[in-house]
Amino acid sequence: MATGRVDLDGNPIKPITICMIGAGGFIGSHLCEKLMTETPHKVLAVDVYSDKIKHLLETSGSGSPPWADRIQFHRLNIRNDPRLEGLIKMADLTINLAAICTPADYNTRPLDTIYSNFIDALPVVKYCSENSKRLIHFSTCEVYGKTIGCFLPKDSPLRQDPDYFVLKEDASPCIFGPIEKQRWSYACAKQLIERLIYAESAENGLEFTIVRPFNWIGPRMDFIPGIDGPSEGVPRVLACFSNNLLRREPLKLVDGGQSQRTFVYIKDAIEAVLLMIENPDRANGHIFNVGNPNNEVTVRQLAEMMTQVYSKVSAEPPLDTPTIDISSKEFYGEGYDDSDKRIPDMTIINRQLGWNPKTSLWDLLESTLTYQHRTYAEAVKKAISKPVAS
Ligand code: NAD
Ligand code: UDP
Repeated sequence: MATGRVDLDGNPIKPITICMIGAGGFIGSHLCEKLMTETPHKVLAVDVYSDKIKHLLETSGSGSPPWADRIQFHRLNIRNDPRLEGLIKMADLTINLAAICTPADYNTRPLDTIYSNFIDALPVVKYCSENSKRLIHFSTCEVYGKTIGCFLPKDSPLRQDPDYFVLKEDASPCIFGPIEKQRWSYACAKQLIERLIYAESAENGLEFTIVRPFNWIGPRMDFIPGIDGPSEGVPRVLACFSNNLLRREPLKLVDGGQSQRTFVYIKDAIEAVLLMIENPDRANGHIFNVGNPNNEVTVRQLAEMMTQVYSKVSAEPPLDTPTIDISSKEFYGEGYDDSDKRIPDMTIINRQLGWNPKTSLWDLLESTLTYQHRTYAEAVKKAISKPVAS
């Protein structure tokens, strides 16, 4: 497994210790899995939850997994735990994934969103800088905000010109709405922590890489309301639509589902993160878009594709009315706003790491919805058939 592995320049890869903060989340769980099954690296996994990585931590009937001595779980809240600095000091590299990163929270819990994405990340940056430790920090494609093109007249031919919508790490501006549109609290906090990390590098020599994920999706993303998360909770779109499909309800299209997104399969994206981990000379000092520019759809098209794929994997016919429109005010409340379009420019990640996404939207939806059906269909059926307590 670990023998003979070399980096992109042909040098042998030395095993390292990684302090992974937010390891129990969606991305963290896939990254831990990859590191345990395909590399010799050690992980100090930090999170308040461990459900999504329990399969990597538990000893089964047949004994300990082969990686048992390479992963340790530390249940702690980085907001107020003095053990954090010690863990960062023990590691060669820190990866910070911890965040509130669900749009339904940005306008309804703006303080928590700003604290989580900026204030709580400050000590992580500080400890890395003071102890000369490398940092891979997870930001977001949302730092780009809206495209320049969306301010052009609807019939302007410039709307078709990629210069007006393709998002480039080193050239595109960050365009957010007014303060009362609290949707942008997340993007703004992420932008400020990016600027702080950049400044720590410029003034104090911090070795950093910043990742801007563009809608990574796949198994274990978020939760299904009322099954493994709060009944009233609103997860990201993959889990919202999965929940609707599992419950045989119409999928809700916010403001008509006209916004566009590019979706990348989590397993493709994790390959990019592994390249960053194992090629520090190529990754340090860079901000990377990680997405799949070929998988662009409107949210309405995503709903139609998911309806079709779910019908295939569940062998249930689609509803007669598979979607309904809903206003953003009704769905998310006051202060919601949206990114109109998100196409990542791939020049920098291609040049530095030679990475390209592979999986089409149809293929990634098929594997993801197969997982959702196998994991949740029975539990949802039971929940629906239970009489409501009076
Ligand atoms: P996630 O919510 O599944 O994972 C985040 C994890 O961080 C959770 O397990 C949570 O418990 C943990 N966490 C939060 N605050 C913590 C604290 N104070 N102490 C300890 N642990 C804490 O989200 P994800 O999709 O895995 O995203 C990971 C990172 O990537 C986030 O920074 C997010 O902003 C960024 N990102 C992800 C996407 C995507 O497509 N999934 C898109 C843009 C940005
Ligand atoms: N959305 C929707 N219906 C839902 C959930 C989300 O129409 O049930 C829309 C949302 O308004 C946004 C897009 O889907 O335009 C993607 O939302 P997501 O929560 O995944 O996060 P975002 O890409 O905005 O960060």
